Amino acid sequence: MLTDYHLHLRPDEDGTPPERYFTAENVDRYLAAAEDAGIAELGVSEHVHRFRQALELWRHPFWEEQAVDDLDAYCEFVRRTPLRLGIECDFVPGAEDRTASMLEARDFDYVVGSVHFVGTEAVDHPGWDAWERRGDPDEVWRRYFEALAECARSGLFDVLAHPDLVKVWGSGRPLPDRDPRHYYEPAVEAIAESGIAVEVSTAGLRKPVGELYPAPAFAEMCVEAGACFSLSSDAHLPEQVGYGYDRALAFLAELGVGEIAVFERRARRLEPLGAAVGEN
Ligand SMILES: [Zn+2]
Ligand SMILES: [Zn+2]
Repeated sequence: MLTDYHLHLRPDEDGTPPERYFTAENVDRYLAAAEDAGIAELGVSEHVHRFRQALELWRHPFWEEQAVDDLDAYCEFVRRTPLRLGIECDFVPGAEDRTASMLEARDFDYVVGSVHFVGTEAVDHPGWDAWERRGDPDEVWRRYFEALAECARSGLFDVLAHPDLVKVWGSGRPLPDRDPRHYYEPAVEAIAESGIAVEVSTAGLRKPVGELYPAPAFAEMCVEAGACFSLSSDAHLPEQVGYGYDRALAFLAELGVGEIAVFERRARRLEPLGAAVGEN
């Protein structure tokens, strides 16, 4: 089986009302793209910060500006489609109980947990650039992976999104002096303890870094620690569904990973990894 769970029906920072993207026609475009790519399970995981309810978790100025959609209207819409219902939810330190309440009140199939911020600065957002404001890349990397470890350990999430997002800019931002394995370590420990599924995301191929998340060394450490994996494109457009999956499948095969995490109503099972194309 192939899945694409971490995807968005609407582009980032688009100010138009949600009705423009949450339509049967738009969903059909994603489903058609999935079928072409042999992807059996397609789910949507819109950013939590697009929803008004996110302001109960955090009042970051960027969130205040973005949080306009209604979370329950989104859930109701997705439940009327063949898509699995997910959400991409930031780990907000100190808001664990409020996050749990928000998530448990809805019948998600899975929750993708992510870290985009170290403190109030983002590792992937030019307007809130962690490097510009904080400078030392070793500190940014250390703080990012510590937050990722907390995110995994919180038990709030089923999937750990784009696990080394901190590298998104590639050579466009300074890299740490230390071997990255040093930073991966606390996160891998938390992944092993929590049992969270590690997302192999092809989004990195479309970003300046030009490689999959996670990096090979990080992924190897996850495999050694007994982690399981999920697979996603983090598409923001129908044409990005299943983007770069040939690369991701080769990567997983090289790691000796033959199964993929599949979710329904927050229950996980493992299925053999492979495209549906040509099998029927
Ligand atoms: Zn993300
Ligand atoms: Zn995303």
